[in-house]
Amino acid sequence: MTSYVLPPAPVSAVPVVGGGLFPVRRIFCVGRNYAEHVREMGGDPTREEPFFFTKPADAIVTGGADAPYPPGTSDLHHEMELVVAIGKGGVDIAEANALNHVFGYAAGLDMTRRDLQAAAKKAGRPWDMAKGFDASAPIGEIVQVATSGHPASGVIELRVNGQARQSSDLAKMIWNIPETIAYLSGLVRLEAGDLIMTGTPEGVAAVVKGDVLEGTIAGVGSVRTRIV
Ligand code: MN
Repeated sequence: MTSYVLPPAPVSAVPVVGGGLFPVRRIFCVGRNYAEHVREMGGDPTREEPFFFTKPADAIVTGGADAPYPPGTSDLHHEMELVVAIGKGGVDIAEANALNHVFGYAAGLDMTRRDLQAAAKKAGRPWDMAKGFDASAPIGEIVQVATSGHPASGVIELRVNGQARQSSDLAKMIWNIPETIAYLSGLVRLEAGDLIMTGTPEGVAAVVKGDVLEGTIAGVGSVRTRIV
């Protein structure tokens, strides 16, 4: 019998409202999905094809735990986002059928080393170290579709130390949830356990050690972490 030569890594998992753990397989993230955020980043929000980057599954931070300020940056930014939890896999999923693949939703933070991202953009290099670092994906509890429905609108907001930083509405997403699932499933086979971070609205800004981040999405839930 063949056995592992090292202990396998533990499964990353997100608590589900009401009990249980959602095992995370992969984390996909949508870039530039709110027009005002595209503008604040110096871009043109003309509806272009969506693009994606990823984070490792073990980048999640759950249960309101602290997130360490990462090395290699002096410009760590918050990006408050709606997270889609995939419950049923598929490839070339039709928009009309896309929501049947969703297990639930959560509030999440796409933490970003903005200085490394800017340097990568300028040099035409990958974003991995700007986006996929350790503890770069704080996430709140997942609420199941039976409770939340499929949120197409509603306030998405983030407070830092109690002060409003980001506030927008899910309805302002350039690519909505069915469109995003359909498009992404044309590039990779989605599987149960995948998470999709759907992009951030405007108001992204730097955080420092000691800051407390609290984000809420109407009808979905909240995410909290402290930078240490
Ligand atoms: Mn983002």
